[in-house]
Amino acid sequence: MKILVINCGSSSLKYQLIDMQNESVLAKGLCERIGIEGSKLTHKPTGKDEYVVTTDMPNHEVAVKLVLDALLDKTHGVIENVDEITAVGHRVLHAGAKYSASIVVNDDVKAVIKECFDLGPLHNPANLTGIEACEAAMPGKKQVAVFDTAFHQTMPEKAFMYAIPYEYYEKYNIRKYGFHGTSHAFVSNEAISFGKLDPNNSKVIVCHLGNGGSLSAVVNGKCVDTSMGLTPLEGLIMGTRSGDIDPAVVQFIANKENKSVDEVLNILNKKSGILGMSGVSSDFRDVGKAAAEGNHKAEVALEAFKYRVIKYIGSYVAAMNGVDAIVFTAGVGENDKNMRAEICESLSYLGIKIDAEANSHRGEEVVISTPDSKVKVMVIPTNEELRIARETLALVK
Ligand code: AMP
Repeated sequence: MKILVINCGSSSLKYQLIDMQNESVLAKGLCERIGIEGSKLTHKPTGKDEYVVTTDMPNHEVAVKLVLDALLDKTHGVIENVDEITAVGHRVLHAGAKYSASIVVNDDVKAVIKECFDLGPLHNPANLTGIEACEAAMPGKKQVAVFDTAFHQTMPEKAFMYAIPYEYYEKYNIRKYGFHGTSHAFVSNEAISFGKLDPNNSKVIVCHLGNGGSLSAVVNGKCVDTSMGLTPLEGLIMGTRSGDIDPAVVQFIANKENKSVDEVLNILNKKSGILGMSGVSSDFRDVGKAAAEGNHKAEVALEAFKYRVIKYIGSYVAAMNGVDAIVFTAGVGENDKNMRAEICESLSYLGIKIDAEANSHRGEEVVISTPDSKVKVMVIPTNEELRIARETLALVK
């Protein structure tokens, strides 16, 4: 059984073909600049040389055809017949409050993805385009939508409601939805099995710290709170996003700089975070290097990032009335041992003790707390593609 996992952006398409017998990646790749001049496909078959195709990709349908050609190619391919692909799993950003689980795509599902264009204006149209392109290229093949918002649908009202007039929730569905759900689901699930926690009696905090970042509080495998909101702008300080901010700042900047609300939100999404604070970069490694060289703004940006993570962890411990495990994942969470150690130092009030040797491991699931630590701390590399493939297989088997 082989599952093709597709993640479409407005001008990109990432894919992985996963053999579900041993959950190994047969090939992965990326189509870039779809609909823009200079488009190319980079195909990486496992155990074979990388293969680059530079050709026009006017739309996602052409991109999907090129991906299939690459997968079937005599030299660079990994399958002989498209029938070897059991089904296709699509990452879809937003399902609003409509779906709390993945679902086989039909006309109703497509209508819901469309209804949520408002809530995910950059991603949902591209995700739907990807689904339709796959339907056209592989008629009759089952397509499954795996939503970024689904895992967070178990949040109680007290966690997801904003304290604004109720009519806006009723009229426009304005509430906290949360994102990175596929990652939070994968990592919290792994934390329970790898960390040998009781699935029916466990309190876990997942820290997904990458270019985008979010935390989730997970009780007995179910999300009870998360830091992103109606959009991914809420919560942590991120690569380019401000995270939590006094909404009055929007009006203030708009008035002072003679900008529209849209323009200010663009600044909060794309020019803020550690990029905006440091003036150096949105990349944590660049900002870390600048801080090490004595750049004060870069230092403050990283300190503020860390401070916000520590505050969110504290609030989720309070929300859950305790915590059994804290898990780090994504680019920064998986790779930056100093950041992990410094965050955990501020959590000594929870009886957390870190094993420096274990904390220096990389690229694998590892418990980084000492055996006598009151809370288990782990690093679990996220694998959203594998989670999408597993969800897809479960629905089409
Ligand atoms: P992601 O969005 O999960 O791919 O994470 C990307 C972020 O992880 C980038 O800002 C990288 O700078 C950061 N990152 C990757 N490796 C490291 C590392 N060794 N130390 C600090 N940050 C890292």
